[in-house]
Amino acid sequence: MKYELIKLPYAATDLEPVISAETLSYHHGKHLAAYVNTLNTLIEGTEFADMPLVEIIQKSEGATFNNAGQVLNHNLYFQQFAPNKGGEPTGALLSAIEKEWGSFEAFKEVFTKACLTLFGAGWAWLASDKDGKLHICKEANGSNPVVHGYKPLLGIDVWEHAYYLDFQNSRPNHVSEVWKIINWDVVAERYS
Ligand code: MN
Repeated sequence: MKYELIKLPYAATDLEPVISAETLSYHHGKHLAAYVNTLNTLIEGTEFADMPLVEIIQKSEGATFNNAGQVLNHNLYFQQFAPNKGGEPTGALLSAIEKEWGSFEAFKEVFTKACLTLFGAGWAWLASDKDGKLHICKEANGSNPVVHGYKPLLGIDVWEHAYYLDFQNSRPNHVSEVWKIINWDVVAERYS
C-alpha cells in the first residue's frame, strides 16, 4: 500500500498572514511530499508495507520511524487549521483542558512554553491518554505521542521550515499567531 500526499482542506492563501501560501507550497508540497515518498520507498517489500501509520511508528526505528512520524504529524497538522477560526474549544475538550490546567488561557501559556523550550527541531502536542486525561508532549524531530500510547489531538510544528519564510528566526511570533487558525472542531473530534 502506498501512502499519498493529503490534499489541503483550504486554499493556499486561506491561512495568510499566519501561514503564507509560499510556506504552504514548501511545507506541504515539498517537505511533506518528500516524507511520503521516502516512507513509501523505505517500506516497500518490508513487514511495514501494509501496516497502518501508527503501528509503523510504534514498531519501527531509524529512517522508517522518522518518515512515518513526519507523515502522521503533518497529516494531523495541516488538517487542524482553517481560516477565520481560533478562539476556544467548547464541550468535553474544554472541560478536560480546564480540569488539567484550570483555564484555556493557562493551558495556552503552558503549551506555548512547551513550543518555545523545545530545543532544535520537533513538535509540541496536546494528546489524550486512554482515560481521556490530557497531556502536553514535547517530541523531538519526527516523534509523535503515539509512542507513549497517547492519541495526538493538536500538534504545533516547531521545525524552522514551518515558520522561517513568514517569521524568520522568531518562533515566539509564529507560535503566538498560530492560535488564530486552529480549528477546534477538528481537535474536539479527535478527542471524542
Ligand atoms: Mn514540518
